[in-house]
Amino acid sequence: MNEALSYVHPNPTSAWGTYLSQVDRVTPYLGPLVRWVETLKRPKRALIVDVPIEMDDGTIAHFEGYRVQYNLARGPGKGGVRFHPDVTLEEVMALAAWMTIKTAAVNLPYGGAKGGIRVDPGQLSIKELERVTRRYTSEIGVIIGPLSDIPAPDVNTNAQIMAWIMDTYSVNAGGTATGVVTGKPIHLGGSLGRVKATGRGVFVTGREAARRVGLNLQGARVAVQGFGNVGSVSAQLFAEAGAIVVAVQDHTGTIHNDKGLDLPKLLAYVQASPQRGVAGFAQAERMDNEEFWSVACDILIPAALEGQISAARAQKIRARLVLEGANGPTVPAADDVFKDRGILVVPDVICNAGGVTVSYFEWVQDFSSFFWTEDEINQRLDRIMINALSQIWDKADQHKITLRTATYAVACERILAAREERGLYP
Ligand code: NAD
Repeated sequence: MNEALSYVHPNPTSAWGTYLSQVDRVTPYLGPLVRWVETLKRPKRALIVDVPIEMDDGTIAHFEGYRVQYNLARGPGKGGVRFHPDVTLEEVMALAAWMTIKTAAVNLPYGGAKGGIRVDPGQLSIKELERVTRRYTSEIGVIIGPLSDIPAPDVNTNAQIMAWIMDTYSVNAGGTATGVVTGKPIHLGGSLGRVKATGRGVFVTGREAARRVGLNLQGARVAVQGFGNVGSVSAQLFAEAGAIVVAVQDHTGTIHNDKGLDLPKLLAYVQASPQRGVAGFAQAERMDNEEFWSVACDILIPAALEGQISAARAQKIRARLVLEGANGPTVPAADDVFKDRGILVVPDVICNAGGVTVSYFEWVQDFSSFFWTEDEINQRLDRIMINALSQIWDKADQHKITLRTATYAVACERILAAREERGLYP
């Protein structure tokens, strides 16, 4: 009766294929709620929009945009907006599905959503970027809103873009609606701590996992893929805790320094470099991109894009802990390799949930127009992340399952219980 969706063509290593296989793995642990499992395999709503803009040279360009509201059983949609030339509907569906799992895993009163535009923002002027953002916002304006679906930053989007989204939505709505988007600049209703929140969550869950497996952070060797928001912040926090970051890979290449990279200098270098990348950093050796995966390290943090860790790469990885800063970096076959090799994976749906947690704080602060200190935010964030990981750890111990399947078990129970309690209409 329940046929596969006709408009997507997943394969085992695509983001959507990965997500579906993760749902299959949790299905035996859903108990009586299993009768609702199909809910987890299809988005509630997917909107495809045309985004036409006038380029600076007077020509007209069209971009394809998406907003997927995957599941709204537990509350409004929540999820970032990605600007990338490879974005597809299928990828956005997977990312929206992962947001659904993530908000439930940390017990935030949200469903899951995600958006994206197929565009290379590096090829646009700042004015063109603003026009793309505003037109996209206007097109998806029919389904987003402070009580229905709240976008946030993701790959290649930042606080400025969130400000344009907020302004466009507010102009169309006829009143300032700061709560329509999170990750905004501070003076427009943004929250202290939001920029670093995802990296901080990666660090906090990583520190907890390290403690539980007896790995001392002092002197631990860390390798990071992706040196953007998530990768750079988590690398810095591990370095501040006494770890040494020995390898970093980004879209410009891989660098390595066995004695540890000087992160403040690397960050300054990346921000000043025309390609905004790590390649060419003087105090490190250049390394072949594929060699990155066999660097001797204790902790590996994939913090770039999905699908990066294949089964073959999982065989080469020498870390004890893998902390998924990125969404969906590990394909299911690689998960099996990690399990066989005794490498512990803290999965994306809990590891990188710090960002959406502080987004939730931002949304709450916007509604009450009362703002918290950074210390209050960090303390509340740490408490939520530590509690969530502890519940997930117990679930994993109880069923002898991986942390990923345990996170799905905790989250899917909450999502499907909400689905059942709300009932089907009509
Ligand atoms: P970002 O745009 O700030 O940084 C992305 C990084 O990935 C850059 O360093 C880039 O060079 C690198 N990269 C891109 N393509 C690469 C490639 N082919 N090989 C190696 N490196 C490559 O993005 P971000 O916000 O740091 O997001 C990174 C990941 O974390 C994404 O998967 C995103 O969905 C996830 N995430 C982000 C947040 C957030 O709050 N920003 C929250 C949860 C999850």
